Amino acid sequence: MSQRQRMGNQPMIVLSEDSQRTSGKDAQSMNITAGKAVAESVRTTLGPKGMDKMLVDNGGSVVVTNDGVTILKEMDIDHPAANMIVEVSETQETEVGDGTTSAVVIAGELLDQAEELIDQDIHATTVAQGYRQAAEKAKEILEAEAIEVSPDDRETLINIAETAMTGKGAEGSKDLLAELVVDAVLAVQDDDGIDLDNINVETVVGGSIDNAELVEGVIVGKERVDENMPYFAEDANIAVFDGAFEIAETEIDAEVNVTDPSQLQEFIDEEEKQLKEMVDQLVAADVDVVFVGDGIDDMAKHYLAQEGIIAARRVKSSELTAVARATGARVVANLDDLSEDDLGFAGSVAQKDIGGDQRIFVEDVEDAKSVSLIVRGGTEHVVDEIERAIDDSLGVVRSTLLEGHVLPGGGAPEAELALQLRDFADSVGGREQLAVEAFAEALEVIPRTLAENAGLDTIDSLVELRSQHDSGEFGAGLDAYTGDVIDMEAEGVVEPLQVKTQAIESATEAAVMILRIDDVIAAGDLAGGQVGDDDDDGPDMPGGGMGGGMGGMGGMGGMGGAM
Ligand code: ADP
Ligand code: MG
Repeated sequence: MSQRQRMGNQPMIVLSEDSQRTSGKDAQSMNITAGKAVAESVRTTLGPKGMDKMLVDNGGSVVVTNDGVTILKEMDIDHPAANMIVEVSETQETEVGDGTTSAVVIAGELLDQAEELIDQDIHATTVAQGYRQAAEKAKEILEAEAIEVSPDDRETLINIAETAMTGKGAEGSKDLLAELVVDAVLAVQDDDGIDLDNINVETVVGGSIDNAELVEGVIVGKERVDENMPYFAEDANIAVFDGAFEIAETEIDAEVNVTDPSQLQEFIDEEEKQLKEMVDQLVAADVDVVFVGDGIDDMAKHYLAQEGIIAARRVKSSELTAVARATGARVVANLDDLSEDDLGFAGSVAQKDIGGDQRIFVEDVEDAKSVSLIVRGGTEHVVDEIERAIDDSLGVVRSTLLEGHVLPGGGAPEAELALQLRDFADSVGGREQLAVEAFAEALEVIPRTLAENAGLDTIDSLVELRSQHDSGEFGAGLDAYTGDVIDMEAEGVVEPLQVKTQAIESATEAAVMILRIDDVIAAGDLAGGQVGDDDDDGPDMPGGGMGGGMGGMGGMGGMGGAM
């Protein structure tokens, strides 16, 4: 469809034949529907009783997960407005690591509420303004109500770690895993903050989830280069050498011009001598273990083994850095520079088997700074999902340590916000007031969905929740297991403040951005272009509401085969 605009009497063609344009209410309604469909696709996974999704890609590889951001990333979504909602979960993931489903579900509900207001002829800009005000106020309310946590409050940290794992594959062993997660985060915390990249999660297929362990040190993904080397070293001096234990080829080409066999022998002797000298440099510095970034010549292996030195070659540079950090070594590029000051120290260096692979464990270090969490599970799908749960958990513990505040879970903050925002709405003049009220209503989607997914009566649950908050019970939330409304803090269901503030902030931003669009001009085909005609926001597809509401969003490759 091309667009023609009149300029004087001359029709002017602005857009090419292939481009598509949708304007005004149609554009708005198309975008809102697309955004809502994204939220709908993850809604059933929310909370401790949420279900999992099985995602099958074009190549047939399968992911089974409960994690909002993972589901949305795996789905092949290409509607532009839908993608804005997907970005909400991605922002949530990078900023806090948890709350990705909640953020998207809130964004979807904000759009749903906005649609009703727009139908009542309230201008989208007014809705947007009201939403912004409400979000600002919501943040203030949460900050005022949040509970301070001291970094030494181990019990609360463990509760936070556990809450993030609830309802995921890791749930069965969450007591143990939460301890490990908290220890891991505390171990890598330093004056600059907490860099989760220093926590290396190693997944092992085979063995029980209960055998997860934390190695306070570094696991190098290589085995020793020669079987005559010792398996382990105690009180080891460690050299980290980012170079090669080889004589460079170019030197050979340049220097050798062999005319008779004795010359060749001479040359080999010379090469051996140089390699021996390199090894002697390690011996002189009293090195027990050397990690080498590049190759190790066979002759060098032999000399190293003879000296009883453990050596690993082609160690990844990130692992070299990790060993250096953990043991206090300096990475040297040239062994001539090596002095005792460059060496690191570890109480134990040992080659061990994990899941059938030989790795070198560098442990008992002064200040680990980088640690490894070994996670086991029966199958690859199981370990992958445990790893995702652990990632969420690491994120919330980090966020709590850095920010210092928590909120009760189970829909408590959302119920409280709904209450206080309705009061606040009275102080907001004009039509924005309606938008603030709609915002309050939208936040209740969290407790409502928690109840729904737990098979509870949503109306009863919401009524009870509202009445307890009315009488000042800020911590009252929904126990998804019993259906009772109880004090979530006392129950140990707590989440970092940042999970909630970030979710509200990015959900509002995305909803507002979508609402303000009244014209969609696409250079090509808008992925089916028919999202706008589905005004049924219920899950209208068997298998968990995915796909049905996703018309025009690319759907999921291969999904048909899975059902
Ligand atoms: P998200 O991706 O948003 O983190 P989850 O599936 O992890 O989604 O669900 C998070 C929601 O579940 C939060 O509202 C949290 O408070 C709630 N929740 C977690 N544990 C419990 C529990 N034991 N009882 C009730 N609600 C819980
Ligand atoms: Mg979560």
